[in-house]
Amino acid sequence: MSLVTDSPVWRPFTQHALQPGAYKIAHAEGAWLTAEDGTRFLDAISSWWVITHGHRHPEIMAAIRQQTETLDQIIFAGFTHEPAEALARRLVEITPEGLDYVFYSDSGSTAVEVAIKMALGYWRNRGLSRRRVIAMEHAYHGDTVGTMSAGARSVFNAPYEPLLFDVARVPFPGRGAEQATFDALEAFCRDGAAAFIVEPLILGAGGMLTYGAPVLAEMKRICETHGVLFIADEVMTGFGRTGTLFACEQAGIVPDIACYSKGLTGGSVPLAVTMCRREIYDAHYAPERARAFFHSSSFTANPIGCAAALANLGIWEKADARARVAQLAAMQAERASRFVDDPRFSAVRHLGTIVALDLDVAHSGYASTLSLDLMRFFNARGLLLRPLGPTIYVLPPYCVTAGELDGVYEAIGAAANQFA
Ligand code: PLP
Repeated sequence: MSLVTDSPVWRPFTQHALQPGAYKIAHAEGAWLTAEDGTRFLDAISSWWVITHGHRHPEIMAAIRQQTETLDQIIFAGFTHEPAEALARRLVEITPEGLDYVFYSDSGSTAVEVAIKMALGYWRNRGLSRRRVIAMEHAYHGDTVGTMSAGARSVFNAPYEPLLFDVARVPFPGRGAEQATFDALEAFCRDGAAAFIVEPLILGAGGMLTYGAPVLAEMKRICETHGVLFIADEVMTGFGRTGTLFACEQAGIVPDIACYSKGLTGGSVPLAVTMCRREIYDAHYAPERARAFFHSSSFTANPIGCAAALANLGIWEKADARARVAQLAAMQAERASRFVDDPRFSAVRHLGTIVALDLDVAHSGYASTLSLDLMRFFNARGLLLRPLGPTIYVLPPYCVTAGELDGVYEAIGAAANQFA
């Protein structure tokens, strides 16, 4: 297996002194990646949680090819195009009822940064000084300044502390400890916060930590009671990952602002949206330029990205896609259940298409090298798995087969024998 080592490329979230090489992938199809030298990897984390129906889905690829025949990229202020218009109309139809406006950007971080700015702009334009943002312990919302601020303070963002603003932090609603979350949220809301931002049902980079739909519904109720805007960061959870198209559906809630990216284009090309209720748009609508929403990026609503997302939504319209997600969720539940009483694991969590298993080991924070050793172990067995500290999670594309999944869990069992 050959690794690229002598390269000017600076890779993300990589300590090059400890991880000097990278596999050079030349081809991807379905759930599989193939390196230039022919080595194959099963993509058991959907390439950082973006791929939904599988790599290079034919309908999405065809839509991208077709779009390149007519329009590549245009300025999106003062001009628009049909892929953006059609996609926005479809998104308003399929997302929780009441999310009526769509703001385009190009990554999950930006979608969340935009959400926070929308919330602050909403209060300022209404002449009210609500400035405080509430977020959750262990949260991860991205790597831009606002999203890092909302995220948990950790090794990820310690060097950038001078950039970060202070947020009010509610505890994670661990099982049996939900009341502490509700009480803290209520207290911060009573003080007149601007918004509460949360990853619905599962905190991803924080360790695939799950909590129940009734907890999500109660947090929404508390925010609503105090008029605090509720921001759902569905960047990871959106497009089927938790078993429903959107995680908020399971709690029957409509957030005031929702962020989607990763699976929006089936994971094929970068695109993101921040959707909001009419009141938030209306607060920015006035015959004064100063009340406009001041955010843009050069590639806002790229037509090729919008065409890919439209094709992705077309796939979701067919019964097949939802049936496939239900089938994968059942396969994952069954495999998770095999490990529940296994002493090598201190906890096993399952939500929709996602399974997370905590290896029962001491001293294994993100900064330890355990996750690197685990990654190498899995890579050597033809698997792309990227544990978060001691947490090994399986988050595959929906096209993965039962046999392929069995191979993943066999390797996880072997890793537990070696490392736990
Ligand atoms: N929000 C959540 C919940 C995420 O999981 C992520 C990425 O993992 C982000 C935001 C940031 O998305 P991106 O990496 O596309 O900027």
